[in-house]
Amino acid sequence: MEQTNYMALVQGLKLYIDAMRRFVRERLTARYAARWWEDGVLTHLYDPQRSNLERDVRSNANREKQDFIDPGHLVHIIAEESRGAFAGYFDDTRRSKPLLQLVLDARNTHAHPPSGDLSRDDVDYALATIEQLLTGARQPEAATVHQLRMGLHDASRPSNTTMPTTRLKASQELDGAIVNARDLKASDVAGKRVLCPACEEFTFQMWPGGWDGHSGWKCTGIAGSDPEERKSEFRERFGYLFRRR
Ligand SMILES: [Zn+2]
Repeated sequence: MEQTNYMALVQGLKLYIDAMRRFVRERLTARYAARWWEDGVLTHLYDPQRSNLERDVRSNANREKQDFIDPGHLVHIIAEESRGAFAGYFDDTRRSKPLLQLVLDARNTHAHPPSGDLSRDDVDYALATIEQLLTGARQPEAATVHQLRMGLHDASRPSNTTMPTTRLKASQELDGAIVNARDLKASDVAGKRVLCPACEEFTFQMWPGGWDGHSGWKCTGIAGSDPEERKSEFRERFGYLFRRR
């Protein structure tokens, strides 16, 4: 079978989610014992995310709960427990959260792939991020993901891509609007003019004012036509740019 960049990303995401589910359950059980699901998972999610997850678990009662944890949940669970269940692994949220977010973005690319193959550099970047997180979690899959990355480079010309460290940056403005919101955090963007992190076409005059109308109906960076699902996808991907209520 021909090894495409897209297939390498699919394999990397599968290794990531399997390893992280096992890791998260292990760490949360060590801290919360039998209440790991309620106190370690559900309590850290935003509302549409939490009720969707509870519904999925209810309708699949014969499956392990951990099988319903996805990359969007990991962003919140690990950040909220950085000083708790994940102390000693992911203590620094400013480093880990953008990495977790990057993997979520890669998962969304995989769920709605563009026509043709993905670029090798983009896939390498996503896999390097996955490798970094699995190394942080001390999971053996990190080595397998490293092999996948080497495979990307064998397939064609050598590349000088280096390991990314973190995308967390200072805010960058163009014409008075912040243009790199996805690299920032809620306190950097609250109340400011912000270019939409999903479509990069629309400018919010006072973030996050109007996010629901824009993401529900207009945003070209969100797939699908159901307004509630579109809003919930936006909220899942960029929840870290909202202040907690
Ligand atoms: Zn948009």
